[in-house]
Amino acid sequence: MSGLTSSSPASIDSAASRGGPGLPQERRVVTEIPGPKSREMFARKQAAVPPGIGTTLPVFITRAGGGVVVDADGNSLIDFGSGIAVTSVGNANPRVVERAGRQLADFTHTCFMVTPYESYVAVCEKLNQATPGDHEKRTFLVNTGAEAVENAVKVARHATGRQAVVVFEHGYHGRTLLTMTLTAKNMPYKHRFGPFAPEVYRAPLAYPFRWPTGRENCAEEAFAQTVDMIEKQVGAENVAAVVIEPIAGEGGFIEPARGFLPRLLEYCRANGIVFIADEVQTGFARTGHLFACEDEGIVPDIITTAKGIAGGLPLAAVTGRAELMDKVHVGGLGGTYGGNPVACEAALAVFETIEQEDLVGRARHIGSIMLPRLRALAERTGIIGDVRGRGAMIAIELVRPGTKEPDPAATAEIAKRCHAEGLLVLTAGTYGNVLRFLPPLVMPDHLLDEGLSILEKAITEV
Ligand SMILES: *Cc1c(COP(=O)(O)O)cnc(C)c1O
Repeated sequence: MSGLTSSSPASIDSAASRGGPGLPQERRVVTEIPGPKSREMFARKQAAVPPGIGTTLPVFITRAGGGVVVDADGNSLIDFGSGIAVTSVGNANPRVVERAGRQLADFTHTCFMVTPYESYVAVCEKLNQATPGDHEKRTFLVNTGAEAVENAVKVARHATGRQAVVVFEHGYHGRTLLTMTLTAKNMPYKHRFGPFAPEVYRAPLAYPFRWPTGRENCAEEAFAQTVDMIEKQVGAENVAAVVIEPIAGEGGFIEPARGFLPRLLEYCRANGIVFIADEVQTGFARTGHLFACEDEGIVPDIITTAKGIAGGLPLAAVTGRAELMDKVHVGGLGGTYGGNPVACEAALAVFETIEQEDLVGRARHIGSIMLPRLRALAERTGIIGDVRGRGAMIAIELVRPGTKEPDPAATAEIAKRCHAEGLLVLTAGTYGNVLRFLPPLVMPDHLLDEGLSILEKAITEV
Protein backbone atom coordinates (compact mmCIF):
# COMPACT_ATOMS: atom_id res chain seq x y z
CA MET A 1 0.00 0.00 0.00
CA SER A 2 1.49 3.27 -1.04
CA GLY A 3 1.57 6.15 1.41
CA LEU A 4 2.06 8.47 -1.55
CA THR A 5 -1.62 8.50 -2.37
CA SER A 6 -2.97 8.55 1.16
CA SER A 7 -3.14 12.33 1.51
CA SER A 8 -4.92 13.13 -1.73
CA PRO A 9 -8.64 12.29 -1.95
CA ALA A 10 -9.98 13.85 1.28
CA SER A 11 -8.00 17.08 1.00
CA ILE A 12 -8.74 17.76 -2.66
CA ASP A 13 -12.32 18.89 -2.84
CA SER A 14 -12.45 22.04 -4.97
CA ALA A 15 -11.22 22.68 -8.47
CA ALA A 16 -8.97 25.46 -7.17
CA SER A 17 -7.03 23.01 -5.03
CA ARG A 18 -6.33 20.65 -7.92
CA GLY A 19 -3.65 20.97 -10.54
CA GLY A 20 -4.18 22.80 -13.78
CA PRO A 21 -4.64 26.52 -14.19
CA GLY A 22 -6.90 26.73 -11.12
CA LEU A 23 -3.79 26.33 -8.97
CA PRO A 24 -2.70 29.65 -7.41
CA GLN A 25 0.01 31.06 -9.67
CA GLU A 26 2.42 32.01 -6.93
CA ARG A 27 5.78 31.05 -5.48
CA ARG A 28 5.32 29.94 -1.90
CA VAL A 29 8.11 28.54 0.25
CA VAL A 30 6.73 27.29 3.57
CA THR A 31 9.42 24.78 4.62
CA GLU A 32 13.03 24.27 3.76
CA ILE A 33 13.34 22.62 0.35
CA PRO A 34 13.01 19.67 0.37
CA GLY A 35 10.66 19.73 3.35
CA PRO A 36 10.09 16.95 5.88
CA LYS A 37 7.42 15.06 3.89
CA SER A 38 9.53 15.08 0.74
CA ARG A 39 12.59 13.97 2.71
CA GLU A 40 10.65 11.06 4.13
CA MET A 41 9.45 9.98 0.68
CA PHE A 42 12.95 10.40 -0.73
CA ALA A 43 14.26 7.97 1.90
CA ARG A 44 11.69 5.48 0.64
CA LYS A 45 12.74 6.20 -2.94
CA GLN A 46 16.33 5.42 -2.08
CA ALA A 47 15.32 2.07 -0.58
CA ALA A 48 12.96 1.10 -3.43
CA VAL A 49 14.45 2.60 -6.62
CA PRO A 50 18.01 2.10 -7.87
CA PRO A 51 20.29 5.16 -7.76
CA GLY A 52 20.69 4.95 -11.55
CA ILE A 53 17.37 6.79 -11.67
CA GLY A 54 18.68 10.20 -10.60
CA THR A 55 16.81 13.14 -9.05
CA THR A 56 17.31 16.81 -9.95
CA LEU A 57 15.39 18.15 -6.95
CA PRO A 58 13.96 15.70 -4.36
CA VAL A 59 10.62 17.41 -3.73
CA PHE A 60 7.64 15.12 -4.23
CA ILE A 61 4.95 16.73 -6.32
CA THR A 62 1.25 16.49 -5.50
CA ARG A 63 -0.20 19.06 -7.94
CA ALA A 64 0.99 21.20 -10.82
CA GLY A 65 -0.41 23.65 -13.34
CA GLY A 66 0.28 26.88 -15.19
CA GLY A 67 3.78 27.89 -14.12
CA VAL A 68 4.06 26.09 -10.77
CA VAL A 69 4.59 22.67 -9.21
CA VAL A 70 3.36 22.12 -5.64
CA ASP A 71 5.05 19.67 -3.31
CA ALA A 72 3.88 17.43 -0.48
CA ASP A 73 4.95 20.03 2.10
CA GLY A 74 2.85 22.76 0.49
CA ASN A 75 5.70 24.61 -1.26
CA SER A 76 4.78 26.09 -4.63
CA LEU A 77 7.79 26.24 -6.94
CA ILE A 78 8.20 28.23 -10.14
CA ASP A 79 8.73 25.69 -12.89
CA PHE A 80 11.54 26.49 -15.35
CA GLY A 81 11.72 22.85 -16.49
CA SER A 82 8.30 21.64 -17.71
CA GLY A 83 9.35 18.08 -16.86
CA ILE A 84 12.08 18.49 -19.52
CA ALA A 85 10.12 20.38 -22.18
CA VAL A 86 7.05 18.15 -21.89
CA THR A 87 4.27 20.18 -20.23
CA SER A 88 4.48 23.09 -22.66
CA VAL A 89 0.68 23.55 -22.50
CA GLY A 90 0.85 23.49 -18.69
CA ASN A 91 0.36 20.60 -16.33
CA ALA A 92 -3.15 19.14 -16.15
CA ASN A 93 -4.13 21.44 -19.02
CA PRO A 94 -7.97 21.57 -19.05
CA ARG A 95 -8.29 20.51 -22.71
CA VAL A 96 -5.93 17.59 -22.09
CA VAL A 97 -7.84 16.57 -18.96
CA GLU A 98 -11.15 16.81 -20.78
CA ARG A 99 -10.23 14.86 -23.90
CA ALA A 100 -8.02 12.27 -22.24
CA GLY A 101 -10.50 11.89 -19.38
CA ARG A 102 -13.37 11.17 -21.73
CA GLN A 103 -11.23 8.66 -23.59
CA LEU A 104 -10.30 6.90 -20.33
CA ALA A 105 -13.98 6.29 -19.73
CA ASP A 106 -14.64 5.05 -23.29
CA PHE A 107 -11.76 2.60 -23.76
CA THR A 108 -8.12 2.57 -22.72
CA HIS A 109 -6.47 0.27 -25.28
CA THR A 110 -7.15 -1.98 -28.19
CA CYS A 111 -3.69 -1.95 -29.83
CA PHE A 112 -3.88 0.09 -33.03
CA MET A 113 -2.36 -2.86 -34.94
CA VAL A 114 -5.23 -5.13 -33.80
CA THR A 115 -8.30 -2.90 -34.11
CA PRO A 116 -7.71 0.78 -34.96
CA TYR A 117 -9.39 3.97 -33.71
CA GLU A 118 -9.78 7.44 -35.19
CA SER A 119 -7.71 9.57 -32.80
CA TYR A 120 -4.46 7.83 -33.87
CA VAL A 121 -5.18 8.69 -37.49
CA ALA A 122 -6.14 12.26 -36.56
CA VAL A 123 -2.79 12.79 -34.77
CA CYS A 124 -0.95 11.46 -37.84
CA GLU A 125 -2.94 13.73 -40.15
CA LYS A 126 -2.12 16.71 -37.93
CA LEU A 127 1.60 15.91 -37.94
CA ASN A 128 1.68 15.30 -41.69
CA GLN A 129 0.14 18.70 -42.20
CA ALA A 130 2.00 20.69 -39.50
CA THR A 131 5.60 19.47 -39.92
CA PRO A 132 7.90 21.31 -42.35
CA GLY A 133 7.42 20.69 -46.08
CA ASP A 134 4.27 20.26 -48.19
CA HIS A 135 5.31 16.94 -49.73
CA GLU A 136 3.23 13.83 -49.10
CA LYS A 137 3.96 12.40 -45.65
CA ARG A 138 3.17 9.46 -43.41
CA THR A 139 3.31 9.26 -39.62
CA PHE A 140 3.31 6.39 -37.14
CA LEU A 141 3.17 6.60 -33.37
CA VAL A 142 5.34 5.09 -30.66
CA ASN A 143 5.81 5.73 -26.95
CA THR A 144 9.09 7.55 -26.33
CA GLY A 145 11.57 9.83 -28.04
CA ALA A 146 14.18 7.09 -28.13
CA GLU A 147 11.73 4.74 -29.79
CA ALA A 148 10.92 7.40 -32.40
CA VAL A 149 14.60 7.98 -33.24
CA GLU A 150 15.31 4.26 -33.38
CA ASN A 151 12.38 3.74 -35.74
CA ALA A 152 13.43 6.65 -37.95
CA VAL A 153 16.80 4.93 -38.42
CA LYS A 154 15.06 1.63 -39.19
CA VAL A 155 12.99 3.30 -41.91
CA ALA A 156 16.03 5.10 -43.38
CA ARG A 157 18.07 1.91 -43.48
CA HIS A 158 15.26 -0.07 -45.01
CA ALA A 159 14.45 2.55 -47.63
CA THR A 160 18.06 3.20 -48.70
CA GLY A 161 19.49 -0.29 -48.29
CA ARG A 162 22.45 1.40 -46.54
CA GLN A 163 23.68 0.95 -42.96
CA ALA A 164 25.81 3.85 -41.72
CA VAL A 165 24.35 6.58 -39.51
CA VAL A 166 26.08 9.92 -38.98
CA VAL A 167 25.51 11.81 -35.72
CA PHE A 168 27.11 14.82 -34.06
CA GLU A 169 29.13 15.85 -31.05
CA HIS A 170 26.93 16.99 -28.13
CA GLY A 171 23.98 15.03 -29.56
CA TYR A 172 21.44 13.28 -27.37
CA HIS A 173 18.97 10.79 -28.81
CA GLY A 174 17.92 8.46 -25.97
CA ARG A 175 18.93 5.54 -23.79
CA THR A 176 18.18 2.37 -25.79
CA LEU A 177 21.10 0.48 -27.33
CA LEU A 178 20.94 2.26 -30.67
CA THR A 179 20.01 5.70 -29.35
CA MET A 180 22.60 5.57 -26.56
CA THR A 181 25.11 4.77 -29.29
CA LEU A 182 23.88 7.81 -31.25
CA THR A 183 24.28 9.94 -28.09
CA ALA A 184 27.62 11.71 -27.67
CA LYS A 185 28.20 11.89 -23.94
CA ASN A 186 29.78 9.04 -21.98
CA MET A 187 28.77 10.03 -18.43
CA PRO A 188 26.07 9.25 -17.47
CA TYR A 189 24.53 7.84 -20.65
CA LYS A 190 27.02 5.28 -21.99
CA HIS A 191 29.54 4.49 -19.26
CA ARG A 192 30.00 0.69 -18.94
CA PHE A 193 26.88 0.03 -21.05
CA GLY A 194 28.78 -1.11 -24.13
CA PRO A 195 29.31 -2.74 -26.54
CA PHE A 196 27.49 -0.21 -28.66
CA ALA A 197 25.60 -0.65 -31.93
CA PRO A 198 27.76 -0.76 -35.07
CA GLU A 199 27.82 1.63 -38.05
CA VAL A 200 27.48 4.89 -36.11
CA TYR A 201 29.89 7.72 -37.03
CA ARG A 202 30.28 11.06 -35.26
CA ALA A 203 30.93 14.43 -36.87
CA PRO A 204 31.75 17.80 -35.26
CA LEU A 205 28.82 20.07 -34.38
CA ALA A 206 28.94 23.72 -35.44
CA TYR A 207 29.12 25.00 -31.84
CA PRO A 208 29.65 28.74 -32.22
CA PHE A 209 30.78 29.55 -28.66
CA ARG A 210 33.50 26.88 -28.66
CA TRP A 211 34.58 26.88 -32.30
CA PRO A 212 38.41 27.09 -32.24
CA THR A 213 38.77 29.61 -35.08
CA GLY A 214 35.79 31.76 -34.05
CA ARG A 215 32.05 31.94 -34.58
CA GLU A 216 32.36 33.45 -38.04
CA ASN A 217 34.12 30.35 -39.40
CA CYS A 218 32.02 27.83 -37.52
CA ALA A 219 29.33 26.84 -40.04
CA GLU A 220 31.66 26.45 -42.99
CA GLU A 221 34.47 24.63 -41.19
CA ALA A 222 32.19 22.29 -39.27
CA PHE A 223 30.44 21.40 -42.52
CA ALA A 224 33.75 20.80 -44.32
CA GLN A 225 34.95 18.55 -41.49
CA THR A 226 31.69 16.62 -41.54
CA VAL A 227 31.96 15.96 -45.27
CA ASP A 228 35.62 15.05 -44.89
CA MET A 229 34.81 12.54 -42.15
CA ILE A 230 31.97 11.01 -44.17
CA GLU A 231 33.98 10.71 -47.38
CA LYS A 232 37.22 9.47 -45.78
CA GLN A 233 35.83 7.16 -43.11
CA VAL A 234 32.47 5.96 -44.41
CA GLY A 235 31.74 6.81 -48.04
CA ALA A 236 28.66 8.92 -48.75
CA GLU A 237 27.07 6.03 -50.69
CA ASN A 238 27.12 3.92 -47.48
CA VAL A 239 25.32 6.48 -45.32
CA ALA A 240 21.64 5.73 -44.69
CA ALA A 241 20.93 8.77 -42.54
CA VAL A 242 22.22 11.84 -40.78
CA VAL A 243 20.51 12.35 -37.40
CA ILE A 244 20.68 15.82 -35.87
CA GLU A 245 18.85 17.98 -33.34
CA PRO A 246 18.12 21.42 -34.85
CA ILE A 247 19.07 22.76 -31.42
CA ALA A 248 21.11 20.29 -29.33
CA GLY A 249 19.07 19.82 -26.13
CA GLU A 250 20.89 17.80 -23.48
CA GLY A 251 24.15 18.94 -25.07
CA GLY A 252 23.43 22.44 -23.76
CA PHE A 253 20.94 24.16 -26.08
CA ILE A 254 23.53 24.60 -28.79
CA GLU A 255 22.14 26.29 -31.89
CA PRO A 256 24.30 25.13 -34.78
CA ALA A 257 25.92 28.15 -36.47
CA ARG A 258 23.55 29.56 -39.07
CA GLY A 259 24.20 28.01 -42.45
CA PHE A 260 25.38 24.67 -41.08
CA LEU A 261 22.01 22.90 -41.26
CA PRO A 262 21.14 24.13 -44.79
CA ARG A 263 24.55 23.01 -46.08
CA LEU A 264 24.18 19.64 -44.41
CA LEU A 265 20.70 19.19 -45.84
CA GLU A 266 21.90 20.06 -49.33
CA TYR A 267 24.73 17.52 -49.01
CA CYS A 268 22.29 14.82 -47.88
CA ARG A 269 19.98 15.54 -50.84
CA ALA A 270 22.88 15.37 -53.29
CA ASN A 271 24.02 12.02 -51.90
CA GLY A 272 20.76 10.17 -51.28
CA ILE A 273 21.18 10.38 -47.50
CA VAL A 274 18.03 10.59 -45.36
CA PHE A 275 18.07 13.77 -43.25
CA ILE A 276 16.48 12.98 -39.87
CA ALA A 277 15.69 15.97 -37.63
CA ASP A 278 15.33 14.91 -34.00
CA GLU A 279 12.80 17.46 -32.73
CA VAL A 280 11.91 15.49 -29.61
CA GLN A 281 12.92 18.43 -27.39
CA THR A 282 12.54 21.38 -29.78
CA GLY A 283 9.10 20.55 -31.18
CA PHE A 284 5.58 21.85 -30.52
CA ALA A 285 6.05 25.63 -30.28
CA ARG A 286 8.92 25.44 -27.79
CA THR A 287 11.38 27.52 -29.84
CA GLY A 288 8.94 30.13 -31.16
CA HIS A 289 8.22 28.05 -34.23
CA LEU A 290 5.98 25.01 -34.28
CA PHE A 291 9.20 23.11 -35.16
CA ALA A 292 12.74 24.43 -34.81
CA CYS A 293 13.65 23.39 -38.37
CA GLU A 294 11.43 26.20 -39.66
CA ASP A 295 13.90 28.82 -38.43
CA GLU A 296 16.27 28.16 -41.35
CA GLY A 297 13.67 26.67 -43.67
CA ILE A 298 14.94 23.12 -43.20
CA VAL A 299 12.61 20.46 -44.61
CA PRO A 300 13.78 17.15 -43.14
CA ASP A 301 13.07 13.80 -44.81
CA ILE A 302 12.04 12.37 -41.44
CA ILE A 303 11.21 14.24 -38.23
CA THR A 304 10.96 12.65 -34.79
CA THR A 305 8.78 14.20 -32.09
CA ALA A 306 7.80 13.36 -28.50
CA LYS A 307 8.14 15.37 -25.25
CA GLY A 308 5.77 18.34 -25.86
CA ILE A 309 3.38 16.31 -28.02
CA ALA A 310 0.76 15.19 -25.49
CA GLY A 311 0.93 17.33 -22.35
CA GLY A 312 2.76 14.65 -20.36
CA LEU A 313 1.15 11.48 -21.63
CA PRO A 314 3.66 9.11 -23.21
CA LEU A 315 3.53 9.52 -26.98
CA ALA A 316 6.05 9.97 -29.77
CA ALA A 317 5.92 10.10 -33.54
CA VAL A 318 7.91 9.44 -36.69
CA THR A 319 6.84 11.61 -39.62
CA GLY A 320 8.49 11.20 -43.02
CA ARG A 321 8.30 11.34 -46.76
CA ALA A 322 5.65 8.94 -48.03
CA GLU A 323 8.07 7.31 -50.48
CA LEU A 324 10.46 6.38 -47.64
CA MET A 325 7.86 5.36 -45.08
CA ASP A 326 5.81 3.31 -47.54
CA LYS A 327 8.78 1.09 -48.42
CA VAL A 328 8.68 -0.85 -45.15
CA HIS A 329 6.78 -4.15 -45.44
CA VAL A 330 3.43 -4.72 -43.72
CA GLY A 331 3.95 -5.40 -40.00
CA GLY A 332 7.55 -4.14 -40.03
CA LEU A 333 6.79 -1.23 -37.71
CA GLY A 334 4.74 -0.82 -34.54
CA GLY A 335 4.51 -1.83 -30.89
CA THR A 336 1.86 -2.82 -28.37
CA TYR A 337 1.20 0.60 -26.86
CA GLY A 338 2.26 2.92 -29.68
CA GLY A 339 -0.37 5.64 -30.14
CA ASN A 340 -2.38 4.73 -27.06
CA PRO A 341 -5.88 6.26 -27.42
CA VAL A 342 -5.67 8.30 -24.20
CA ALA A 343 -2.32 9.77 -25.29
CA CYS A 344 -3.71 10.49 -28.78
CA GLU A 345 -6.65 12.44 -27.34
CA ALA A 346 -4.17 14.39 -25.21
CA ALA A 347 -2.10 15.16 -28.32
CA LEU A 348 -5.18 16.46 -30.15
CA ALA A 349 -5.88 18.68 -27.13
CA VAL A 350 -2.28 19.95 -27.30
CA PHE A 351 -2.66 20.86 -30.98
CA GLU A 352 -5.89 22.72 -30.18
CA THR A 353 -4.22 24.58 -27.32
CA ILE A 354 -1.19 25.60 -29.38
CA GLU A 355 -3.49 27.03 -32.03
CA GLN A 356 -6.12 28.65 -29.82
CA GLU A 357 -3.72 30.13 -27.28
CA ASP A 358 -1.06 31.08 -29.84
CA LEU A 359 1.66 29.24 -27.94
CA VAL A 360 4.13 29.90 -30.76
CA GLY A 361 3.66 33.60 -30.02
CA ARG A 362 3.86 32.91 -26.26
CA ALA A 363 7.20 31.13 -26.71
CA ARG A 364 8.58 34.15 -28.58
CA HIS A 365 7.24 36.44 -25.88
CA ILE A 366 9.00 34.38 -23.18
CA GLY A 367 12.26 34.56 -25.14
CA SER A 368 11.88 38.32 -25.54
CA ILE A 369 11.65 38.66 -21.75
CA MET A 370 14.42 36.21 -20.85
CA LEU A 371 17.14 36.97 -23.38
CA PRO A 372 17.67 40.69 -22.65
CA ARG A 373 17.74 40.13 -18.89
CA LEU A 374 20.20 37.25 -19.22
CA ARG A 375 22.40 39.23 -21.62
CA ALA A 376 22.48 42.16 -19.20
CA LEU A 377 23.37 39.75 -16.41
CA ALA A 378 26.17 38.29 -18.53
CA GLU A 379 27.67 41.76 -18.93
CA ARG A 380 27.47 42.45 -15.20
CA THR A 381 28.88 39.20 -13.84
CA GLY A 382 31.56 37.73 -16.10
CA ILE A 383 30.76 34.07 -15.34
CA ILE A 384 28.21 33.75 -18.13
CA GLY A 385 30.19 32.94 -21.28
CA ASP A 386 27.23 32.55 -23.62
CA VAL A 387 23.50 33.32 -23.62
CA ARG A 388 21.60 31.44 -26.30
CA GLY A 389 18.46 29.72 -27.44
CA ARG A 390 15.19 30.62 -29.09
CA GLY A 391 11.68 31.15 -27.79
CA ALA A 392 11.18 29.38 -24.48
CA MET A 393 14.29 27.18 -24.91
CA ILE A 394 16.99 29.39 -23.41
CA ALA A 395 20.31 28.59 -21.77
CA ILE A 396 23.38 30.20 -20.24
CA GLU A 397 26.81 28.61 -20.31
CA LEU A 398 28.91 29.23 -17.20
CA VAL A 399 32.67 29.70 -17.37
CA ARG A 400 35.52 30.90 -15.17
CA PRO A 401 35.61 34.69 -15.56
CA GLY A 402 37.66 35.88 -18.49
CA THR A 403 38.04 32.37 -19.98
CA LYS A 404 35.96 29.75 -21.78
CA GLU A 405 36.85 27.13 -19.18
CA PRO A 406 33.60 25.39 -18.16
CA ASP A 407 32.52 25.88 -14.54
CA PRO A 408 30.27 22.94 -13.60
CA ALA A 409 30.77 23.60 -9.86
CA ALA A 410 29.36 27.14 -10.11
CA THR A 411 26.52 25.78 -12.29
CA ALA A 412 25.56 23.21 -9.66
CA GLU A 413 25.79 25.82 -6.89
CA ILE A 414 23.53 28.26 -8.74
CA ALA A 415 20.98 25.51 -9.42
CA LYS A 416 21.06 24.56 -5.73
CA ARG A 417 20.43 28.15 -4.62
CA CYS A 418 17.56 28.52 -7.08
CA HIS A 419 16.00 25.31 -5.81
CA ALA A 420 16.26 26.49 -2.20
CA GLU A 421 14.40 29.68 -3.16
CA GLY A 422 11.59 27.80 -4.91
CA LEU A 423 12.74 28.03 -8.53
CA LEU A 424 13.10 24.73 -10.38
CA VAL A 425 15.92 24.95 -12.97
CA LEU A 426 17.68 22.19 -14.91
CA THR A 427 21.32 21.82 -15.87
CA ALA A 428 22.68 20.40 -19.14
CA GLY A 429 25.72 20.42 -21.35
CA THR A 430 28.58 18.14 -22.29
CA TYR A 431 30.67 19.87 -19.61
CA GLY A 432 27.80 20.14 -17.08
CA ASN A 433 28.08 23.93 -17.14
CA VAL A 434 24.81 24.95 -18.74
CA LEU A 435 21.68 26.14 -16.96
CA ARG A 436 18.69 25.62 -19.22
CA PHE A 437 15.27 27.18 -18.97
CA LEU A 438 12.15 25.51 -20.34
CA PRO A 439 9.16 27.21 -18.72
CA PRO A 440 5.68 26.01 -19.62
CA LEU A 441 4.52 28.26 -22.48
CA VAL A 442 1.46 29.21 -20.42
CA MET A 443 3.54 30.57 -17.53
CA PRO A 444 2.25 33.99 -16.44
CA ASP A 445 4.71 36.88 -16.86
CA HIS A 446 4.89 37.69 -13.15
CA LEU A 447 6.26 34.21 -12.40
CA LEU A 448 8.72 34.45 -15.26
CA ASP A 449 9.96 37.78 -13.89
CA GLU A 450 10.16 36.49 -10.34
CA GLY A 451 12.05 33.39 -11.49
CA LEU A 452 14.55 35.52 -13.38
CA SER A 453 15.08 37.70 -10.30
CA ILE A 454 15.87 34.63 -8.20
CA LEU A 455 18.28 33.44 -10.85
CA GLU A 456 19.98 36.85 -11.05
CA LYS A 457 20.44 36.90 -7.29
CA ALA A 458 21.87 33.35 -7.23
CA ILE A 459 24.33 34.12 -10.02
CA THR A 460 25.40 37.41 -8.49
CA GLU A 461 26.06 35.70 -5.14
CA VAL A 462 28.05 32.86 -6.73
C1 LIG B 1 14.60 13.43 -24.59
C2 LIG B 1 15.15 13.25 -25.95
C3 LIG B 1 15.15 11.99 -26.58
C4 LIG B 1 14.69 10.75 -25.87
O1 LIG B 1 13.35 10.80 -25.53
P1 LIG B 1 12.75 9.76 -24.46
O2 LIG B 1 11.29 9.99 -24.51
O3 LIG B 1 13.38 10.14 -23.15
O4 LIG B 1 13.16 8.41 -24.90
C5 LIG B 1 15.61 11.90 -27.88
N1 LIG B 1 16.04 12.99 -28.53
C6 LIG B 1 16.05 14.21 -27.96
C7 LIG B 1 16.53 15.38 -28.76
C8 LIG B 1 15.63 14.39 -26.65
O5 LIG B 1 15.66 15.60 -26.08
